[in-house]
Parts: sequence; structure tokens; C-alpha cells
Amino acid sequence: MAHANGNGNGHAAVPAAFPPPVDSQREFIKRELDPEDERIEVGVAIVGGGTAGLACATRLLQLLADDPDMLERLGEVPVAVIEKAKTCGGHNLSGAVMRTTPLEELLPELTREDWRKAGFAFGEVEKEGVYMMPNAKTSVRIPTPPPFKNHGAEVISVAALCRYLAAQAEEAGAYILTETAATELLITEGRVQGVRSGDKGRGKQGQELGNFEPGADITAQATVLAEGCWGHLTGGAIKEFDLADGREPQNWELGVKEIWKVAQPLDRVIHTIGPWPLKLNTKYHHTGGSWIYPMKNEKTGEDLVSIGFVVDLDYADATTSAHDLLQEFKLHPLVRKILEGGERVGWGAKALPGGGYWSMPKLSMPGAVLVGDAGGMVNTTALKGVHYAIKAGMIAAENIYSALKRGETSFAKYEDDIEASLVGKELWEVRNTRQPLAQKGLIKGGPLTNVLIATKGKFPAGRISMKGSDETPMFIGKSKDTYPKPDGKYTFDKLSSVFVTGNQTRDDAPNHIRVQKNVPRVIAESWKWMCPAGVYEISDEQLEATEGKPEAHVDVIVNYTNCVQCGAITAKGGRLTTPEGGDGPLYQLT
Ligand SMILES: Cc1cc2nc3c(=O)[nH]c(=O)nc-3n(C[C@H](O)[C@H](O)[C@H](O)COP(=O)(O)OP(=O)(O)OC[C@H]3O[C@@H](n4cnc5c(N)ncnc54)[C@H](O)[C@@H]3O)c2cc1C
Ligand code: SF4
Repeated sequence: MAHANGNGNGHAAVPAAFPPPVDSQREFIKRELDPEDERIEVGVAIVGGGTAGLACATRLLQLLADDPDMLERLGEVPVAVIEKAKTCGGHNLSGAVMRTTPLEELLPELTREDWRKAGFAFGEVEKEGVYMMPNAKTSVRIPTPPPFKNHGAEVISVAALCRYLAAQAEEAGAYILTETAATELLITEGRVQGVRSGDKGRGKQGQELGNFEPGADITAQATVLAEGCWGHLTGGAIKEFDLADGREPQNWELGVKEIWKVAQPLDRVIHTIGPWPLKLNTKYHHTGGSWIYPMKNEKTGEDLVSIGFVVDLDYADATTSAHDLLQEFKLHPLVRKILEGGERVGWGAKALPGGGYWSMPKLSMPGAVLVGDAGGMVNTTALKGVHYAIKAGMIAAENIYSALKRGETSFAKYEDDIEASLVGKELWEVRNTRQPLAQKGLIKGGPLTNVLIATKGKFPAGRISMKGSDETPMFIGKSKDTYPKPDGKYTFDKLSSVFVTGNQTRDDAPNHIRVQKNVPRVIAESWKWMCPAGVYEISDEQLEATEGKPEAHVDVIVNYTNCVQCGAITAKGGRLTTPEGGDGPLYQLT
């Protein structure tokens, strides 16, 4: 929970100086459409079957159910959701304590009891506790700061919620294309015309295998990019339409989560705000915290706990590892008391956009809109984004429906409606709260953040700037020295954790991770430690040869088939592109 300017460590290797070999506009934008008889035509194409995309599909189908003329105008497939996971929910992960109003608005006929029976909700938050952890042994309960007040919210699993919403949307008439990656944005005449789906059945070198199936142009009257935290089509669109002009750079966080079956039910929602197990020394530039949420599974009667650790990705110590920090965190007596005697039944990792209001790109472009995390709609001070994703999906649906009904393909009003909604209002109030912590650390920045929270952003007013997560100079520090040796029962290594996700990536699939392969050791170490799935390696020989020389170049070995598509590499100098549809984890309760 601390900060340094990244200087003072004697080395200046910055991840941004080693950008991935990617040209988004050239590679991810297709500027000519296939002949008409080879295209798949849909009314509205939604890329991403997460909460944002599925809320959008659900709301659109509700509106179309009362408007048969419009339904007909949208053609045989009025609403299509394109999702790269094997099933919707397979790639979704969140804490998750959800503020309930948007979901209640989306599905007004359902009660919370119905949610729990459906298996995606696990109980209302009635008690909560926030703790400071000065060290590995002690914890001090503090009065609950306003962003951590969750009374009345519901503990959910977004993976399970997405499975539920997808089934409902399909029943209502949505065409849900799972195992399908949208790999290119179709743009002609300055307007987004849809997306192209990825090829399947290519080998390591990109060659066609026996089961090869080419992708197809999916043309649409409107396209919704609901890819989560800056997917690669979103990145291409941002560049093509200058959507980030005049905004602060995006800044990211990475969370690693486990689900435990526990012997005793936990009676409250817990958050810890460190500094332990992060380093207080400002040169580490560490900020982060944890959550522990109780989950009562009404279907099975089991008592479960969601536990996770989130770290801001603008840290300076290359040996910072969210996965290992979570393992270390579990050794604290406060946590042991909750988990001991239980069993880990789930694991996963995911990045989230942390920049907030000032880092949000422009949300509309000709023919398309950005919703949810793709539009940077997360309040990281409170660790909340699910209710924004749902609300933004609904607002996008309403705008697209009205615009298409008027025969227009400009969705500019969507941006104003987001600004006027709870999404815009809540994010505006916390627009400057993260920056003091990021710039000055917990001790020096904390008081200003508290003033900003207390005054709902009124004081100090103005815009506080933000740095990208890849702009911090890195050094090889001591975070790693206290990570526990995994025992396979209570603490776990990365590879056995990936196994728990049901990761399905083919061994002979093409590489979907783009990084420079020969970089200073300090950059390679950053990727190695950061990646929760153990994708990056440096050979023992090169480690030995470069001992004590962080600037010496090494070759990075990329074991991309382990990747759980958390997205963190995109924040720290590389790029996650879309793998073949169906690859990656198959999350159940994350
Ligand atoms: C560790 C962590 C803890 C969090 N805790 C909380 C919490 O407690 N409460 C809360 O409210 N919020 C929390 N959040 C934030 C919240 O989870 C997100 O804001 C929300 O889930 C975003 O939903 P989304 O639909 O925008 O994106 P996602 O859930 O990321 O969905 C995007 C979907 O698009 C698919 N996709 C992406 N690109 C393509 C493509 N090109 N082709 C096909 N499919 C594609 C992905 O597979 C995915 O299914 C947390 C986030 C994290 C990471
Ligand atoms: S390689 Fe995959 S799992 Fe590892 S950091 Fe990158 S996106 Fe995440």
C-alpha cells in the first residue's frame, strides 16, 4: 500500500519501453466485407457474454418482445452474443458482492430467493468488517470506510450469473455463439459493421489442421463491445476512432480468487486494506487489498467462502505476484481461522480496469458502443463493477433499440445516458480517490483519499492525472522472499491452480500471447511473477548468467497453453489476443 516514483532503485526498465509486437488497427480491423452470401447477418452483435453483454441482450429482447415490427426489421437473428468461452460464465470472475438495483430492474419478476434457487446468489450482506493488517500475525478492526459499506448487497458468482442469463436470453430468442472468438472488427465507410469470428483448427504455426473451420463475417446493424477489461477489438476501436483522446491512461489491477468449502459458516463480509502482505516501503509502489465473502449454497446446503487478493498493476517490484500474495495472506491467523479444515474447490484470476472516470474512453463510435469493463466502468475504491456492467448493458440496449427504430446508426446519446445514470454519477464521485494512493502511497496519500471520499469528490476538485500500469520503472525486489512454499492442501502453486479451472487450451494451438521475446531480465521477471498461470519462464542457464544484472537481456519462454486469459499481460507490456474459441478456463463459481 505504498508508493515510490520508481526511481531510487538504480534501474529504469519500464514495461512500456518493450511494447508487444502488435498493430491493432492493421491486424484486428477488416476493411472489406466478404461477399453477401458468405456473411452471417444479425440485427445486433454483442461481443462478450459477460454480465454487460448478457444484460444488453436481455433488455433488447424485452423491448423487441413488445415490438414485432422492429423484431422483423432486425432479421432472422435479431440478437447474437459472441462468447469465446466454452459456455457463458466460463471466463468470468469477480469477488463478488453486487449492488442489486440494476439486476432487480433487469429482471423485476425475480426475488432474491429466486436468484439463490437459480444458483448464482449466495446471501445478503448483513454484517461486515474491515481490518488493517500491520503484519503477518496481527489485525486491527477499523470503522467501516464508506466505500466498504455493503449492507444489503448480495454475494454472487458472476460465472453462475452469466450461465443463468445466457440460458434466459437463449430462451427469449438470442443466438448465443459460444466457443467463438470475435477476432476482427469489420469497419467500412467509417462505421463498425460487425465482427469477424476466428478460425478454428489451426496448428502452432498457423497452418490449417484436418478439422480446420474458417471464421465468418458477422454483419450487424449495431455492435456492442462487451469484451471485459479492454479486449483486443475494444483496443482496436479505441485507436481507430481516437476514443481515448483527452482521457487519462487506463490503469489496471489483478485479482486472484479461490473458493473454499468451509467447516463453519462465515458470518460477515471481510475486507482487509493491508499494508501486509504488501510492502509499505515506498519504492515497491504497492497498493492492494483482499476480500473474504461468505456464500451459502442453497441448492447443496454447503457453506462456501470466496477469498481473493487484488493488487494494482503499477507496482515496481518485479517479484510481485497476486497468486503468491493470496497464498501468503491465507497464512494470517484471521484467515486461517476461517479456512482451516475446509477444502479449496475453485481458483481463478482476472484483471480489472482501475483508472475510473478519467480513464474511461469515449463510449460510442459510428455503429458501435462500449459497455461494462470494456468502457472502464469500475469503481475500484469500492471494488464494484457488476452493477455498472448490468446497467450499462441495459442503457446500451435501450439506445440501440431507439436509434435503429428511427433508422439511425449513431448511438452518441448512449454516452450522455451513461453519464446521467448511476454509473456516471457514482464514478464521478470517486473520480480522484485512487490517484493519491497510487501517487503517494497509503500513509501519505490515504488522508487525501479519505477527504475525497468524505466530500464525494467535491474537495479537492479538478482532475488528478493517472499513469499507465506499464509506466512504472521496475526493479527486482524482495516481495518473493516471503511467499510460502505450497503444501498442496492449504497453499497452492500456480500450475495445480490452473488445473482446477478446467483449462482446455489445445497443446498445438497457435500462440495468442504477444510479448517481445528478448527483454531485460527485470521485465521478464515481472511477467514471470505477475502471471497467475505460470506462462512465462526464463531458462536456468540464463538466470545463472544474468544473476545480479537486471538490465541484461534474456529470452522469454511463453507456455501459452496454461493461460487463463486474465488480461494482466496487456497492462504490463504485452498483449492478450483472442485464442481459439472454446480454449481457456471453464470457471464454475468464480
Ligand atoms: C478480482 C475481481 C474482483 C471483483 N470484485 C467485484 C465485486 O465484489 N463486486 C463488483 O460489483 N464487481 C467486482 N469486480 C468487477 C466486476 O467483476 C466487473 O466489473 C464485471 O464483471 C465486468 O463485466 P463485463 O461483462 O463488462 O466483463 P467480463 O465479465 O469480463 O465479460 C467479458 C466477456 O467477453 C468475452 N470476450 C472478450 N473478448 C471477446 C472476444 N473478442 N470474442 C468473444 N468473447 C470475448 C469474455 O470471455 C467474457 O466472457 C471484480 C473484478 C475482479 C477482476
Ligand atoms: S499469459 Fe494469460 S494468464 Fe498469464 S498474465 Fe497473460 S493473460 Fe494472464
